[in-house]
Amino acid sequence: MTHNKQSKSTLAPLDIARETFKQMAVRRVEPTPDNYQLIYNEIAGSPAKETLDSAIRKALKQLPNGTTEQSKWISRWEKLLKQNDWTTLPALLSEGMDVSIAFSKQWPDAIRELLQGWDAKQIGLDLPRKKEALERVLINFGSDPLLAQKIQTVVSGWKQYGTNEKGSQTIEVVNAEAMPATVITQYKLVAPASDIAVMLNVEQKTDEIPQTTGIEPDQFQESFRTLQDVLKQSLNHGLIPRLDGYPELKEEAQQISNLADQARKLKDWQLVTKNFRSLLVRVELIGANEDGMKQDLLRLLKLLIDNISELVVDDQWLRGQVAAVQTIISSPLERALIQDAEKSLKEVIFKQGMLKHSLNDAKAAFKVMIATFVDRLGYMSDSTGTYQERVGVYADQLSEIEDIAQMNALLENLMKDTNTMQTDIVRSREVLLEHRNQVDSSQEKILKLQEELSELSEKVSVDQLTGVLNRRGLDDAMVREIARAQRGGVELSVALLDIDNFKSLNDTYGHHVGDSALQHLVKVIKETIRPTDIVTRFGGEEFVILLPDTSLDQAVVTIARLQRMLTKQFFLGNNERLLITFSAGISLFKKDEAQAAVLNRADQAMYLAKKSGKNRVMTEVDLDTANKSNSKHKTQLH
Ligand code: GH3
Ligand code: MG
Ligand code: MG
Repeated sequence: MTHNKQSKSTLAPLDIARETFKQMAVRRVEPTPDNYQLIYNEIAGSPAKETLDSAIRKALKQLPNGTTEQSKWISRWEKLLKQNDWTTLPALLSEGMDVSIAFSKQWPDAIRELLQGWDAKQIGLDLPRKKEALERVLINFGSDPLLAQKIQTVVSGWKQYGTNEKGSQTIEVVNAEAMPATVITQYKLVAPASDIAVMLNVEQKTDEIPQTTGIEPDQFQESFRTLQDVLKQSLNHGLIPRLDGYPELKEEAQQISNLADQARKLKDWQLVTKNFRSLLVRVELIGANEDGMKQDLLRLLKLLIDNISELVVDDQWLRGQVAAVQTIISSPLERALIQDAEKSLKEVIFKQGMLKHSLNDAKAAFKVMIATFVDRLGYMSDSTGTYQERVGVYADQLSEIEDIAQMNALLENLMKDTNTMQTDIVRSREVLLEHRNQVDSSQEKILKLQEELSELSEKVSVDQLTGVLNRRGLDDAMVREIARAQRGGVELSVALLDIDNFKSLNDTYGHHVGDSALQHLVKVIKETIRPTDIVTRFGGEEFVILLPDTSLDQAVVTIARLQRMLTKQFFLGNNERLLITFSAGISLFKKDEAQAAVLNRADQAMYLAKKSGKNRVMTEVDLDTANKSNSKHKTQLH
């Protein structure tokens, strides 16, 4: 529930007053009458009444405050309100009244003067100009209390402008800020009547205004001003712009114009006349000079055109244009013809620009092409080196090229070279391809042979010198024979033979004799053993004989027989009968043992035979016995 609703329906004025004091205490507001009123209204629900103070302040803010008088008057009101001193109020009010009365009194006068000024006929000041001046004043002072006064000033300016009845010596520009620039200029042009005599070429001995011309002073003034205007315009817009090539004369003409502008006295106008005549004489001379110059220029142009026609031999259209220009300048000059010539020349220049542009484009494209070309050549063989050099030269020449003819010549040479090079390259390529094919096929053959060889060498298990199985053959044979022995439950003996002192045989009789000795031994072995026995070359002068289905003892018998056979069948080395002996070790295959184990025992037995004095046969049993006696011997020693 708000206070407003409460008070409207229920509270009596006394209650409202009490509640107001309470609220002032609660809100901690200053105990001023204004605050009391504010809160009272709030509680009573009645609209807030505006105080006089604030109403006056608001009104003052809305009043115009543009002029010093206005702002002074307003600030005096503000002071009054602030000090709450109402004694000055009557004076303030009456002053405001006076001001407004004064302002309102100005308007009828101002309007009257404006109407008179508007209708009056002034020289050099027509209605549009008056309108312009008036508009300017309205724009600048439209909301100003002084507007009437400003309008009066402008209108009084108009009066002086055109109705200078007394021929005053100087005319002041009145209220320049309220006048448009054109009007100000017009004022400046106004000159005293005494100077008009000069313009009318009247002989004048004194500085006085001529009195005997028989012309009314008003007419005189008017004519004078017109002439002054014409002189100035002739100088500024007629002569001066045509003296562009003659800065001295131009400067002089400018000075005369200024002089005429400022001239007030008769002697000023005499000086203007004198200077002007002297200038005109020299301007005439220029005219004659310019005629000669025109002829010179024509000759120069002809020369230029003739040269252009030399330059554009290639283009029929350009030739036509140039011929047209030539015709024009050879006939008497006319403005229209010269303009035609200019047009034609412009087209020639444009077309030439286009040609030059496309030539540049072509050159740029060509350069890129050459660069790519040289790049690609770089990937080719040495034989193209000379061409690369030549192409490099072309690239250099290319940067110097100025016209299409040169470009064509270069292209022709390049094409010739390129054709030759192409033929060369094609030929080299063919040869190269042929060689490569040959190499390829040879390589293929070699690879095939290598493959075959390795395949063969893998397969070869026969010793080349003796024709018996080699080590690989022994492996296969052992696998086979062991399997067979295991399967059949039969014995398999293994004998390892090592030729005695074979090195000294080699050393004494040579390697070749040694080889023959090996062959001889194999021959004897083969003749001695059974066909089912297998002889293999185990290493250099070592042989392994596999004796299937043979006991250890039987094997010893066989190898012993071999020893005997060798003593019977002599080996012939260098026509000498040489006795070959060997030491042998024999082992017996044990069930499930590895190949290497049985071979190892044979080897150890053979070693025992060597140790025991060579040329003898020992078995694994002997080996055992030797080991036992060895260990026994060792024990005894200890
Ligand atoms: P040892 O009685 O102790 O066996 O003496 P050795 O000279 O027979 O044995 P050694 O192992 O010292 O020499 C073996 C020689 O056999 C050395 C090598 O030149 C020769 N030899 C190995 N293979 C061949 C071959 O294929 N042909 C020839 N001519 N000699 C070979
Ligand atoms: Mg040996
Ligand atoms: Mg030996």
